[in-house]
Amino acid sequence: DEVRQKYVKDKRLGEGTYAVVYLGHLKNDPSSSVAIKKIKVNAEYKDGLAMDAIREVKYLQELSHPNIIALHDVFSSKDQNLSLVLEYLPRGDLEMLIKDVNIHYGVADVKAWMGMLARGVWFCHENFVLHRDIKPNNLLIGSDGEVKLADFGLARSFADPNYNMTHQVITRWYRPLELLYGARQYSGAVDVWSMGMVFAELLIRIPFVAGNTDLDQISKICEAFGTPTEENWPGVTQLPNYIPSDRNVPLQGREFFLRQFPIAGPVGAELLMSMCALDPRKRTTALQALRHSWWTTEPKPTKKEDLPRKA
Ligand code: ADP
Repeated sequence: DEVRQKYVKDKRLGEGTYAVVYLGHLKNDPSSSVAIKKIKVNAEYKDGLAMDAIREVKYLQELSHPNIIALHDVFSSKDQNLSLVLEYLPRGDLEMLIKDVNIHYGVADVKAWMGMLARGVWFCHENFVLHRDIKPNNLLIGSDGEVKLADFGLARSFADPNYNMTHQVITRWYRPLELLYGARQYSGAVDVWSMGMVFAELLIRIPFVAGNTDLDQISKICEAFGTPTEENWPGVTQLPNYIPSDRNVPLQGREFFLRQFPIAGPVGAELLMSMCALDPRKRTTALQALRHSWWTTEPKPTKKEDLPRKA
């Protein structure tokens, strides 16, 4: 095993759907820490998973930014398994913080976490990479409190605008309507929607739109934010899986967002609203989001070293 020539595995950290993760260190530097992610490739899924793994590798290696997990090394063995040596992020993820009732946090903390998320997403998009699976569980926290985008398994370049991309991406609750309607050509706007859903969840500490099925997700989004029509979203009825709605809920405005997310304040609620535009062309971009006045509105974002952390 090639990994063993350079790294030592110390203990198992956890297991995901397609990988086992170990804590390890460089053989010649016992004080170093790395996460070694071994992608499980079983015969049944070999081709698909190998492709995902290769994409993960390709895009991660190109992206170097404080809010994106660093990829130190990649090893593939003869049996087609793949090992990624990643930056070790020991402080869990945003999902753990949201769910832990013993952790108290406020809007200044949310502002700090969202700022780090927005900068990571902006950097990806600036480099023509979509993350496509942004959710609290994929936002890992470094020892210095920095939030980092991880799990680029589904990431893919959108440099070729004519490329038909598979729409079965993004965990359902964080998926925008254009993907649920089967759009094959999409943009960074998908990540911005997911970022909006993370923002909402950080504020209310439960997922804002939690559908049980894709159809349920569609109806819950329409009920919450409004029904898409040709008037408010030109072209929506032409999407492959578009379903006409029997109810016509008007698009929600500022008052709705402020009522649902009072702790965001009027400026924060306005930023959230701009991330939740149903028409992806009307949705804010990561860059526009970063230029929003919410970041400089009081309270200021918490310094990363002062952010609440898991016990
Ligand atoms: P999933 O995202 O499905 O939970 P992963 O395969 O990405 O699974 O990771 C499995 C577990 O390993 C995670 O829940 C996390 O606890 C841990 N882990 C993953 N990556 C890292 C890392 N870079 N640093 C520290 N722990 C990690």
